[in-house]
Amino acid sequence: MIAILQEAPDAVTLRLSLAEVARFRAGQYYNVRIPIPGRPRPIQRAYSIGSSPVPASNVIDIGVKETPGGLISPILVNGLSVGDSIEVRGPYGRFVWDEEVDRPTLLVGAGSGMVPLMSMIRYAAATGHDSAVRLVCSASDFNHAFYAEELALLDRRHHWLSVTHCITRDPGESRAAHHRRIDAGILESVVRPAAVERAYICGPPAMVEDASGSLAALGLGPEAILTEKFN
Ligand SMILES: Cc1cc2nc3c(=O)[nH]c(=O)nc-3n(C[C@H](O)[C@H](O)[C@H](O)COP(=O)(O)OP(=O)(O)OC[C@H]3O[C@@H](n4cnc5c(N)ncnc54)[C@H](O)[C@@H]3O)c2cc1C
Repeated sequence: MIAILQEAPDAVTLRLSLAEVARFRAGQYYNVRIPIPGRPRPIQRAYSIGSSPVPASNVIDIGVKETPGGLISPILVNGLSVGDSIEVRGPYGRFVWDEEVDRPTLLVGAGSGMVPLMSMIRYAAATGHDSAVRLVCSASDFNHAFYAEELALLDRRHHWLSVTHCITRDPGESRAAHHRRIDAGILESVVRPAAVERAYICGPPAMVEDASGSLAALGLGPEAILTEKFN
C-alpha cells in the first residue's frame, strides 16, 4: 500500500503498488484477501478499481466504504497503514466500459458504486472521449459524495460530461440538483435531453434494480443496460 486517501468519513481509496503492470478494463474489480484469526483461509471480498487503466501502470486505486458490522471493510477502512501489504487477485468482471460503443451514455451510482464509474470517467477523460456522458450519483450529503471535487473539475473541463448530484439528507445543499434518492423522474430528466442509448448502473442491489426498471420503462433495451450490484 503506497497511499491511503480519505474519500468520505467512512470510505478510503487504497493505492496499491502491484508486482506487475495492471492490465484491466475500466469497471473491473480485484478480490482482496484478508487473513482472519480462527479462519482456515483468507476471507475474500470484491473491490472495484477507481483509477484509469491508462496510462498503464503497476499502481491501482481501489475504493472501500465501511459496511457497519462487516468482517472485511472495517479492517480495510480503519485498520491499514501505508507500507502494509495486502493480497489481491484479479482483475475480474464484465461490468466494463466499452469504448467501441460511441453513443450517449448514462452512469448511475450510489455510495461506493461510484468507484468503477469513476474509473470509466477517468479513462474517458484520458483517452479523448467525445460523446455525451451523463452521471447521476447519490449520497447522503456532500461529505459522503465520492470524488465530488474531481468530478466538479472534470465537469467544467469536458463538454461531454455532466454530473447530477442527488443528496438525500441535506436539504440545504445547493450543489445538489435533487434532494431525494435517484428515481424515475430524475433519470428521465437526464436521459431524454441527452438521448441516452446505453447505461451503467452500480451500487446497492435495490437501487440498481429500481434504476434498471426505470430505464427499461424509458425504452432502453436490456442489452443497453449494464449493472453491477455491490452485495
Ligand atoms: C463485483 C463487486 C464489486 C464491489 N466493489 C466494491 C467497492 O468498490 N467498494 C466497496 O466498498 N464495496 C464493494 N463491493 C462490496 C464488497 O465486496 C463487500 O461486500 C462489502 O465491503 C462488505 O464486506 P464486509 O466483509 O465488510 O461485510 P460482510 O461481513 O460481508 O457483511 C455484510 C453485511 O452483512 C451483515 N452480516 C454479516 N454476517 C451476518 C449475520 N450472520 N447475520 C446478520 N447480518 C450479518 C453485516 O453486519 C454487514 O452489514 C463490491 C461487491 C461486488 C460483488
